[in-house]
Amino acid sequence: MHKEEIRSAGTIDYMVFSNLLAPGVLHAFTLRRGGVSLPPYEQLNMGLHVGDKQKAVLENRRRIADVLGYEVSTVVAGEQVHGTNIVQVNTDMLGAGHNSLDDAIPAADGLICAESGIVLMAHAADCTLLFFYDPIERIIGLAHAGWRGAVAQMGPLMVDALVRLGCRSKNIRAALSPSIGPCCYQVGAQVIEQIPPHLQRKVILQKQGSFYFDLPEFQRLQLLEAGLSPENIFKSSYCTACHTDLFYSYRAAGGQTGRMAAIISMKW
Ligand SMILES: [Zn+2]
Repeated sequence: MHKEEIRSAGTIDYMVFSNLLAPGVLHAFTLRRGGVSLPPYEQLNMGLHVGDKQKAVLENRRRIADVLGYEVSTVVAGEQVHGTNIVQVNTDMLGAGHNSLDDAIPAADGLICAESGIVLMAHAADCTLLFFYDPIERIIGLAHAGWRGAVAQMGPLMVDALVRLGCRSKNIRAALSPSIGPCCYQVGAQVIEQIPPHLQRKVILQKQGSFYFDLPEFQRLQLLEAGLSPENIFKSSYCTACHTDLFYSYRAAGGQTGRMAAIISMKW
């Protein structure tokens, strides 16, 4: 069974997923402790687009880079517009979206990369961040999907993109970050009607006349339908809205808060 683990390095905490732990691959999901951002973004806010001071976010990003052992100049981040555009990243894009959102990869919610030395980064506070790694073809991917991205098939589209690069779906490992869980994610008809009927009974829960969506389980089931093996998928057990000591939660904070980052890179 795969598991998640919170690691600490000095004042910084971050999470790793056991199915992505492999020689030559670096990955992490950042948490709140150990940064310089002030309320309501305290402490390790990794998002530039949320109203926090740029200087604080860049210091937080520098601290994570130091802890994990990469250069900030090698980071590439997408703009993230709740869409499903997937971009293959290469060394011409190094630094995109690191110091400023203005030069992030435009309209990209998914990044894939077959080269070492490039650090893919994505951000969320309740949405799911999906990590991908194929140890055979040595290709990585990172995607951002809330309900809009999920119902638009972000996970399966990432699998398609990896398969087009030569990956076999059975070899692809995936990890789904902590995101808002069915305990907290109340949704309305606008969301429910876009979920395929055969999956609704598995991912929509009814409690006291309201409907709750299991966003991460929905995305796990989508990846299974896309051909991934169940033993290659890890889904976090944490709900971001239930654990605001560890995570930023857009819903729990009423909108104004920081972002966690997902980070993945091939070191060689
Ligand atoms: Zn919850």
